[in-house]
Amino acid sequence: MARYIGPKCRLCRREGMKLFLKGERCHTAKCAIAKRGDAFPPGGRAIKRGRVSEYGNQLREKQRLKRYFGLLDRQFRGVFDRAIKDRGNTGTALLNIIERRLDNVVRQSGFSLGPASARQLVAHGLVKVNGRKVDRPSYSVKAGDVISFTSKERPRKRVAEILEGSKPFQVCPSWLERDEQALTVKVLRLPARDEFPFILREQLIVEGASK
Ligand code: SF4
Repeated sequence: MARYIGPKCRLCRREGMKLFLKGERCHTAKCAIAKRGDAFPPGGRAIKRGRVSEYGNQLREKQRLKRYFGLLDRQFRGVFDRAIKDRGNTGTALLNIIERRLDNVVRQSGFSLGPASARQLVAHGLVKVNGRKVDRPSYSVKAGDVISFTSKERPRKRVAEILEGSKPFQVCPSWLERDEQALTVKVLRLPARDEFPFILREQLIVEGASK
């Protein structure tokens, strides 16, 4: 399974925003963006460029989305192909499909420290949906689904520790209901557009990807 193994903070600096890829560190003064007080692009010399082209804007929005959710290009393309088949607004469908991914639900509910570890938990077969093991990070949850974890003692203990550590900064979104004792998450409803974790101009992504 292909994955990005380069420096994560570099991705945040490139996108000019916190992508929360490193768990607890992202919420401390050690965060590369917090240290500088502003975002600065990677590379030796940060040169302020002039006006960004239409293509540049479309690319940046797509990269921000992919990087926040830990998607590679092929995975993004798969999601986009599903979104264009949706009868409603393609941009909204795109965000909805991504938010409903099983690895994202694990991350948003505070049971992992970032997209990579959430993906690993699922891919290693430690996550169940409605009592059945699901090892596909792209699995799309639906309203009423209950996500739980393996009964194996060691990974359960680790998940409980992560949750304890993430609680001070990770607020479980209102479309999910977390049970901290049972280590489960219930999908109460599908996420609304205004519940997306950051500001994004999805129309630009659709325009860029439709060419
Ligand atoms: Fe991004 Fe986290 Fe690194 Fe800050 S610490 S730059 S939020 S990955």
